[in-house]
Amino acid sequence: MKKLLPGKVLLPRAAIARRVAGLGQQIADAYAGHELVIVPLLTGGLIFAADLIRRLPIKMRLDVAAVSSYPGRAIRSRGVTIVLPPQLNIRRRHVLIVDDILDSGRTLTAMQNILRRRQAASVKTCVLLRKEQARRAGLWADFVGFDIPDVFVVGYGMDFNHLYRNLPDVVQLRTAR
Ligand code: 5GP
Ligand code: MG
Repeated sequence: MKKLLPGKVLLPRAAIARRVAGLGQQIADAYAGHELVIVPLLTGGLIFAADLIRRLPIKMRLDVAAVSSYPGRAIRSRGVTIVLPPQLNIRRRHVLIVDDILDSGRTLTAMQNILRRRQAASVKTCVLLRKEQARRAGLWADFVGFDIPDVFVVGYGMDFNHLYRNLPDVVQLRTAR
């Protein structure tokens, strides 16, 4: 089996930091005068959400939820399992789901359905990255950091086989030679 390793830097840390600050302002404007519950999706959305909420000058509560869609070494989605449902009571509250990547859309849809069933006042979505296939399929999130090509990426919270989440840049995975 060919080894897969971090390769080309797709989004350097400085560009990510600038965009995250911009997203924070955009979200703060959209929710002006409202309280918000932020629900980052573990584990990929963790680093992004940690940076984003510190750029969010509004009254907010933090929850977490976990969804599994890429078990182990798989690099294609195999359906979604809710591993950890959100914990806070979000009835009549405005909720923003925060995740790393929008690809097939299954992850966000599954989580949106749960939160709507629990009668959130509103459910919006924020992703750092949107893949080309999602863009072509007309999938969208309310707040999108970057549109990227259909390549597998790691770093800034995103993993391959649980590795590379600690890389500060978003990096493309490459085959070792
Ligand atoms: P979707 O459910 O939209 O197909 O996939 C979104 C989820 O798949 C993301 O939350 C992310 O965890 C994972 N994912 C999709 N593309 C990539 C990728 O290029 N790299 C990594 N590490 N995870 C990905
Ligand atoms: Mg994920």
